[in-house]
Amino acid sequence: MFNKSLRQLAADLRAKQISSVELTQLYLDRIAQHNPALNAYVTLDSDKSLAQARAADARLAKGDATELTGIPIAQKDIFCAQGWLTTCGSKMLHNFISPYDAHVISQFNSAGAINLGKTNMDEFAMGSSNETSHYGSVKNPWDTARVPGGSSGGTAAAVAARLCAAATGTDTGGSIRQPAALCGISGLKPTYGVVSRYGMIAFASSLDQAGPMGRNAEDLALMLNTMAGFDERDSTSLQRDKEDYARDLDKPLHGLRIGLPKEFFAAGMGSDVAKAVEAALAEYKKLGATVVDISLPNSRLSIPVYYVLAPAEASSNLSRFDGVRYGYRAPDYSDLNDMYEKSRAQGFGSEVKRRIMIGTYVLSHGYYDAYYLQAQKIRRLIAQDFVEAYKHCDIIMGPTSPSTAFKLGEKGDDPVQMYLSDIYTIAVNLAGLPGMSIPCGFGDNNMPVGLQIIGNYFDEARMLNVAHQYQLATDWHSRAPQGIL
Ligand code: GLN
Repeated sequence: MFNKSLRQLAADLRAKQISSVELTQLYLDRIAQHNPALNAYVTLDSDKSLAQARAADARLAKGDATELTGIPIAQKDIFCAQGWLTTCGSKMLHNFISPYDAHVISQFNSAGAINLGKTNMDEFAMGSSNETSHYGSVKNPWDTARVPGGSSGGTAAAVAARLCAAATGTDTGGSIRQPAALCGISGLKPTYGVVSRYGMIAFASSLDQAGPMGRNAEDLALMLNTMAGFDERDSTSLQRDKEDYARDLDKPLHGLRIGLPKEFFAAGMGSDVAKAVEAALAEYKKLGATVVDISLPNSRLSIPVYYVLAPAEASSNLSRFDGVRYGYRAPDYSDLNDMYEKSRAQGFGSEVKRRIMIGTYVLSHGYYDAYYLQAQKIRRLIAQDFVEAYKHCDIIMGPTSPSTAFKLGEKGDDPVQMYLSDIYTIAVNLAGLPGMSIPCGFGDNNMPVGLQIIGNYFDEARMLNVAHQYQLATDWHSRAPQGIL
């Protein structure tokens, strides 16, 4: 049951092989069994989940079910969900019960999906290891001494350990793709603007994008069908015709031109990662694709550019957490300013504070031109590199992350080492392009390796096709961590 695809589950629900209440209860029992070791979920509410499951069963009985009706989906704790504790991994929001639904949540609700629970994450989505969460680190189900990646680490661990049918994540610099790679699952960050950010707690608004995480490309397509679409409440949501992202899954790959950026295949990538990625490319050639060498010369600047722009936006977005209207308020203070200062000093963790300070600095008078404006200019050049590259290829491939999952605590004291985890993913966010990660083998220590697939703007259906064809020919995506099934 826990290995079935979303389409198989939907068919079982329709055929009354199982009810949504039974399925939801099976997952809740499984979570009770495995979550204590993994810490993937931060909030569970079985009454709410089962009430949704009963409504889904009624809908199934009436015959007006959608592809996701009755299917238990986990939600990253960055999405506001009405009546649910929504913490964003922070003490600052330890008591925040959302009065409204994020667009993504209401899309799943209208489809009749079940909210199975809220998944752990790095505080305010800042991190690559899920060690900055106020609720403790998440463990990688393949080896609980290792990190699951971040910031959507709870989601990635939950999917890998079969503690949900599929789940949501968000990706500002790699937070869907990198944890997907480290946990051996599939994840897709759509083109910026395809999924509404309404009700998704903002980190760096010009980069944040929500997307699906699941066990295979076909599941991601069904999830994205529900998540995508115009929403007037997000001014950067794009007004486009509704698409079926599963429409091209079965197309053969003959003639596909895969671009390999020479900068991604240089020093820095672990040799075990390189081996798995090379083997995946060989498989693609067997499937009829050709490879071309391309260059993204400015991508080497993506980390410094991102660590100017993302903190700048974060420093502004996080100014709303002041202890006044909601969230954490310091218990003792002398006056209003003292209340702000103490609430923020006590409510935010150290990585969040570091970013607020950097962001405030680069936006300040005298430094704005030297840092923020420069970074914006280089961001444009990075995006332009992709426009050039796509003149020579249809899709770009490379590693998702330079290494497999590292040990808990290994990079905690060295922010720069941690930031380098996203060296291959960040340029995609800066350009606003869609990117995904799919499992393509195992590296040293038997930890999963992710293959990154980068599409041109709005090319999600093709990326899913490219991923699906590979998954028909290989079985990396169906491997499960030992002792879990
Ligand atoms: N790891 C990156 C960071 O720490 C990206 C996080 C994300 O994509 N939310 O900012």
